Amino acid sequence: MQDGLVPVLPEVDAFLRKDHRLFIGGKPVPAASDRTIELHDPSTGAVIGHVASATTGDLDLAVAAARRALAGDWSRMRPADRERHIHRLADLIEAHGEELAQIETINQGKSITISRAIEVGASVEYVRYMAGWATKIEGSTLDLSIPMPPGVRHTGLTLREPVGVVGAIVPWNFPLMIALWKIAPALACGCTVVLKPAAETPLTALRLAELASEAGLPDGVLNIVTGGGSTIGAALARHPGIDKVTFTGSTAVGREVGIGALTNMTNFSLELGGKNPLIVLSDVDVGAILPGLAMGCFLNQGQVCAAASRLYVHAPLYDRVVGDLEAVMKSMRLGPGLDPSADLQPLVSARQRNAVESIVDEAARAGATILTGGRRPDRPGYFFEPTLIVDADHANPAIQKEIFGPVVTVTPVRDLDDALHRANDSGYGLAASIWSNDFAAITRAIRGLRAGTVWVNSHIPVDPNLPFGGFKQSGIGREHGRSIIDQYTEIKSVCMAM
Ligand code: NAD
Repeated sequence: MQDGLVPVLPEVDAFLRKDHRLFIGGKPVPAASDRTIELHDPSTGAVIGHVASATTGDLDLAVAAARRALAGDWSRMRPADRERHIHRLADLIEAHGEELAQIETINQGKSITISRAIEVGASVEYVRYMAGWATKIEGSTLDLSIPMPPGVRHTGLTLREPVGVVGAIVPWNFPLMIALWKIAPALACGCTVVLKPAAETPLTALRLAELASEAGLPDGVLNIVTGGGSTIGAALARHPGIDKVTFTGSTAVGREVGIGALTNMTNFSLELGGKNPLIVLSDVDVGAILPGLAMGCFLNQGQVCAAASRLYVHAPLYDRVVGDLEAVMKSMRLGPGLDPSADLQPLVSARQRNAVESIVDEAARAGATILTGGRRPDRPGYFFEPTLIVDADHANPAIQKEIFGPVVTVTPVRDLDDALHRANDSGYGLAASIWSNDFAAITRAIRGLRAGTVWVNSHIPVDPNLPFGGFKQSGIGREHGRSIIDQYTEIKSVCMAM
């Protein structure tokens, strides 16, 4: 093993060698077909294992298991007992934290530090937060004015009931965390789940399902089907046995998923792509904000839906920000996820690395200047150099397209109006940030930015209590916080003559 790498735990080694099956009805189940999906270590390109490729027949079994579990004890369980089950799951994720973090890093490529802190650490807090909602779901009492029959008064009630079987489709950038963003609130609301992880990164979801069984979740409450997006993902979105589809991924696929769900009039919500602006005004201390800017742009190699990718800098500071950012980027050391001292890790797949590279090439052909980076380094694995692009006009692909890699553009702006106009002139509206100490400018930016989240002097942190989701092409619906309860419950109105 290379010096300085975190030693792989024996249980991780054993898990990777396993014959990875589907997880249906509380146990591993072989898929109907022998077809498998090959998994790679993004830091070397080496094959690390295979998972089953589910057929639509396998999906039917998973949906049937989830329907049986829904009709069984789970949705009728006392909320306090449901809460306790979810807390037990959080405890087990925490107890197996290093194991889960290593599996994620080996499969996804990300830094072990990020796997520990976010995929596991933040997820445990998220699951505990959501567990608490199980006992706090409430409706309302309503005074009604129905005039018939004369003299009879009516009272209304609303109840919130579990929406039913949830079909969850998740991306590869934060495989464990985003799976739990779906699973934990769905369970808190009394739903059951069929989850399809991304084809590239299915491993932590499979381990999570084992832990869910160990936590005492009744069989069939959580089912995992591994498989291709256009096959099994599409079939899940259109499955008549699913009551709610929740999707996180690209806008193009999200549109297909929504259309698929509508064929059965299935409730759906979509967390989609972003092309997120970050505005720097001239009153800031560039040295002080630089680490925050770099994190906003390069966390997880920029493979974050909310990452900053278009920087708009007030003209007087433009040269300074470009120079300082370039220096930071040139100093970043590339290395495998298991090397905690590396600054930037590989992208998830050769396909993603090629996609990033091709947009950077397009940007250059369209007249932008690649100030630093722009190439894959001469080493194995799916690495791509941190890339700084300047002189990109507004129509340039680097400004218009979601890149989802370690690539940023920096553009000078005349003033806040110019910045807001450019920031909002995008089909996306997931997130944005404003960096300034000018109270009036900040309040104008908060109101003026068309984005689901606006950060002030910060970019990227999310919290279970803060709703998250997109305006425009960045999605439909909100996750986290109280708003998530709306996503996984149906309102039943009751009208009583009394
Ligand atoms: P993707 O859309 O290619 O895939 C997402 C999931 O959908 C995967 O499980 C995939 O297998 C599945 N899928 C693919 N084709 C499908 C189809 N036709 N029908 C049903 N399912 C299908 O996205 P990705 O490349 O895995 O992830 C990157 C994208 O996700 C980026 O656009 C990013 O912005 C977005 N994302 C959004 C958020 C958010 O909260 N808004 C969070 C993370 C990632």
